[in-house]
Parts: sequence; structure tokens; C-alpha cells
Amino acid sequence: MVLAQLGGSISRAIQQMSNATIIDEKVLNECLNEITRALLQSDVQFKLVRDMQTNIKKIVNLDDLAAGHNKRKIIQQAIFNELCKMLDPGKPSFTPKKGKPSVVMFVGLQGSGKTTTCTKYAYYHQKKGWKPALVCADTFRAGAFDQLKQNATKAKIPFYGSYMESDPVKIAAEGVERFKKENCDLIIVDTSGRHKQEAALFEEMRQVSEATKPDLVIFVMDSSIGQAAFDQAQAFKQSVAVGAVIVTKMDGHAKGGGALSAVAATKSPVIFIGTGEHMDEFEVFDVKPFVSRLLG
Ligand code: GDP
Repeated sequence: MVLAQLGGSISRAIQQMSNATIIDEKVLNECLNEITRALLQSDVQFKLVRDMQTNIKKIVNLDDLAAGHNKRKIIQQAIFNELCKMLDPGKPSFTPKKGKPSVVMFVGLQGSGKTTTCTKYAYYHQKKGWKPALVCADTFRAGAFDQLKQNATKAKIPFYGSYMESDPVKIAAEGVERFKKENCDLIIVDTSGRHKQEAALFEEMRQVSEATKPDLVIFVMDSSIGQAAFDQAQAFKQSVAVGAVIVTKMDGHAKGGGALSAVAATKSPVIFIGTGEHMDEFEVFDVKPFVSRLLG
């Protein structure tokens, strides 16, 4: 179910419930079941949905509803709060400071949009007066360096990589060192992806992280991976200190549920979303406006 449909289904479920003359437990349950179905179809993990349902039942007082309070508003507010809570891990991620060197490492599966997102992230900050730089530590995928080089050149962002060197740890360390010397304040390290979660990938990620000591590790996730989101995000979190999430491909047929699962699995906030293939199709992620839009 795409995001807009999810919002519509939830709003409809609330509307139907508030049309009922008497709101008893049965009517409330029907409404919550409807919302549960909509969330599951949007790929929110089952456990998260079940917890949300339990929480709402605890919050919503049936006596209040019977006493003629604005039922729609009470339920809608409870759902809004629960969805916000699901997307807010309670602590902000590390935020780089302009003028102070920070190393940001990107991790994610091959095809998730990692390399594209590295450039988008660099470009976003460059426009705000930062001095970003890109390091290609992906020696696994043929063409990865060329892709990063092409993107970086287009955006006039300095880059570092090698066609000859096959050790990603060495390249990462050299690139970070070089750009620190050049006083770049945002050094972005693109790491290798794999088609699936493999031990070798995680080991390599750990070594690159060890060598570059990133201030922030960003997990890049394709929004279309569905129910696999939770496990995938958790697997990355268990290997490196993921501190933030960027969800890509939120354009088109994106489902929103994966974002909720990724936050739960990594206990890290979503900081940006990718909304297209172009460099500037990139948005800051803000929980409340996102949920408001979702609920229509
Ligand atoms: P990587 O293997 O993780 O480095 O993935 P790439 O950066 O090469 O991206 C894989 C494909 O996804 C490319 O065709 C990108 O243009 C595309 N892509 C990346 N981000 C987005 C996005 O936000 N929206 C859309 N529609 N496509 C994207």
C-alpha cells in the first residue's frame, strides 16, 4: 500500500468509527483492526503494529468517548502520537557542524541507492556552504568508483578513490586523511554493498569503520524492500554503530512502513528521504509533518 493510500485508509477507519452512535469496545476494535490491516499492507512490522494497537487501547478511554467528547479527535490524536513515537527513537542523531571536520560513513545493500545518496548528502550540504568530499571505498562493485566520480564531478565535489587498489580499508583511510588535511568539514565514505547480508560485507564494514572512525554511520535503505526492512536494518546495526537512517525511493510506489521498521531496528532516526534519481531529489525528514501528511 503506498503512503497516500495508507493515510486514506486510516482516516476512513476513524471516520467510520466516529459515525457510530455508540462507541463501545467492539467499534473501537473494528477501527483499530482496520488501521492494523492498513499498516501491515504498508510493510510495518507486525510486532510494531501490535504494540501500537495495545498502546492506543490503553490511551483511549471509552468513557470519555461515550461522554460525547470529540471521538474522532481523541482517536486521531492517539494514532498520530503513536506513529510519531514509532518514528522517533527518542534521541537525535549526531549532527555534523559546519567548519568542524566530521567523517560520515554510508552503509547499505547494493542497489539501495547508497552511492547516489552519498552525493545527494554532499550536494545538500555544499549548497549550505559546507566543504564536503567523497571517498569511494567500494572496491567490490565494478563501476562504483566511476559512478561516484561522475556524480562528484557533476556537483563539483572533491572525490578520492582508486582503480588499482583493491583494499577498501586502505582507500578509506587514505581518503579521509587527505580530506582532513584539505580542511573539508564533511568527509563522506561510501562503502561496498552486497546483494544480500553476507558475513564478508559486515567484516569489511567493521574494518572501514575502525580505520576511519566515523562520527556518524548512516544506513541507507530502499523503501521498497517491504517486510524485510526490520531484519536488514537490525543486521547492519549489529555490525556497525548505525546512528541514522536514510530511506530512498520514496517516490513512485513507495511504502512508508519500512521507515518505521528501520527506526525500530536501529533505534536511530530517519534524517533524510530520497525522492528521485536526481541530485536534488532529497528531503530533510521531519517526523510530525510526515505523519500529518500520512493521516491527511
Ligand atoms: P548502490 O548500489 O546502493 O550504491 O545504489 P545506487 O546509488 O547505484 O542506486 C541504485 C539505483 O537506484 C540507481 O538507478 C539510482 O538512480 C536509483 N536511486 C537511488 N536513489 C533513488 C531515489 O530516491 N528514487 C529513485 N526513484 N531512484 C533512486
